Amino acid sequence: MLVKLIKTFRDDLTGLLYPVTCLVCGDRLRDQTHLCSYCLNYAFVPFEREGRESGGGMILPDWIAMQDALWEFDKGGYLQDVLHQLKYNGLEKLGSALGRQLGGKLRHNYWMAPLEDSLLLPVPLHSSRQRKRGYNQASLIAGGVAEVTGAETVGSNAVIRIRNTATQTGLNARVRRKNIGGAFHLVQSEQFRNRPVIIIDDVITTGATVMELASLIRPEAACIGIVTVAKA
Ligand SMILES: [Zn+2]
Repeated sequence: MLVKLIKTFRDDLTGLLYPVTCLVCGDRLRDQTHLCSYCLNYAFVPFEREGRESGGGMILPDWIAMQDALWEFDKGGYLQDVLHQLKYNGLEKLGSALGRQLGGKLRHNYWMAPLEDSLLLPVPLHSSRQRKRGYNQASLIAGGVAEVTGAETVGSNAVIRIRNTATQTGLNARVRRKNIGGAFHLVQSEQFRNRPVIIIDDVITTGATVMELASLIRPEAACIGIVTVAKA
């Protein structure tokens, strides 16, 4: 009780000293989510190409049961900034808020809605990068999805990233695929056995990274879906 009181007091004080504002409209917020509920619901273009053929330079094989996202990526726009802040500025509560929003949408996914037996697999970061950043933004998003859907998040060492690849920005699909080849290692294959698995990341562009991960768990998983906050 006392700990909770102190925590509440500390949060209130922090809010007074450093008011958190919405990253999009600038409105002052009471919580630390960094996006007001209006912007969370209406500021960005909804992704409505749910299913397997989402187009946009990405063709997924037929063994991917579902690909979905919350929003269309807006190069140079507010969403790009929000995701950049999530990745580099340690806004942990923003990650959970985005995840909860994503989870809310996924519950209505026709192809593969996350259920309690589903396993969420956030795209792993290389350990050196995670140490430097202090967190994995995909794990924060997965945490929010889990909260809303009841799905389980995979243990952090089930799959590891064994190669620290440079940024894929600006590269075409073929080069990206080549770059990411062999970047992950499946440590605990039994975790995925006969489970519906949903791979989670912040943004999907050509799909090279998530497909490399998907190929790795394909022999184990019952079915595989790919879900991101944004689709470029
Ligand atoms: Zn706002």
